[in-house]
Amino acid sequence: MFKEISYIMPQLSNSLTRIERGVSRVVERARNRHVEEDQNPKLRRHYRARFWLARFALVPLIGLGTVFAEQPGKALIVVAHPDDEYYCASTVYKMAVQLGGTVDELIITNGEGGYRYSTLAAAYYKKPLTNEVVGRRELPAIRRQEAINAGKVLGIRSHYFLDQVDQHFTTDERDGAKYGWKSDLISSRIRALIRQEKYRYVFALLPRATSHGYHQAATALAASAIQALPPILRPVLLGFDTNPARFEPLPTELFPQTWQLDYRFAFDRTTKFGFRDALSYQIVVDWMIAEHKSQGLLQTMDRRDPKEYIWVDLSSSPQAQKSADSLFRLLGQDVTHNDK
Ligand SMILES: [Zn+2]
Repeated sequence: MFKEISYIMPQLSNSLTRIERGVSRVVERARNRHVEEDQNPKLRRHYRARFWLARFALVPLIGLGTVFAEQPGKALIVVAHPDDEYYCASTVYKMAVQLGGTVDELIITNGEGGYRYSTLAAAYYKKPLTNEVVGRRELPAIRRQEAINAGKVLGIRSHYFLDQVDQHFTTDERDGAKYGWKSDLISSRIRALIRQEKYRYVFALLPRATSHGYHQAATALAASAIQALPPILRPVLLGFDTNPARFEPLPTELFPQTWQLDYRFAFDRTTKFGFRDALSYQIVVDWMIAEHKSQGLLQTMDRRDPKEYIWVDLSSSPQAQKSADSLFRLLGQDVTHNDK
């Protein structure tokens, strides 16, 4: 019975959102006609009555939508760098801000390696950040604040900074450990947080062999932390990327993960909403990008990626597929499912 209700509620909630939009359009039309027909007093009374009727109809509908909307539960983002939430930004926004879920973020490195593209930020922060010595000294505090500011945009509740070294760009997943990451400390912090907060989902970056080695290492550490927990406590591990290409697993993986080859969901950042459908999630992503002022290269990603693609690690939890499906069903019409 509960299963049926939990299936129906998101559908009902989505339908109510559509009805609310429809009523808003009627209100808008009535208002426009009201202005055009302003010269005729009879018509003016008629449209004014329709306008108020439609307005009153909105109140219980919005109330119903709020009461019946199932909340999507809790997620923990586990990433290497203070701007890696870019890959899941609009999914997080929808989940945390629009649907009332809880999303926290654990960031492994202090981000000091990002000094080379800080030319614009040097003027903004009035510090010569592109100088390696200055950049490595000043960036950890700056990037921590930038991550908190970006989190405010996306509705992230709490940040956990593990302050590990951010050495250089690499595509070797073992470099985290090689350059001084305390893997045991990272794993145990992730495990402790999952036990304490009972997250249902862990968001990470899809660990492609061609991607940043620290991104791969962060996801491998999240996978190993999850699998060390009793099955009942394990959240599903989701891998995000803005590239829909098939995942090619490599035998040299740091920690075994069982990623599906094709992405399972796609979240459309270009979905329109708001007054006259003038807004989209791209604006939210742009705000998030703009908060990371020290990251010049990230600024060039403005409106570049129209979708977030999501893969499921089937080995993370016995309920992996089911939990992932239920989350993305709740996220509603902005998500397409890939049944390949
Ligand atoms: Zn990164």
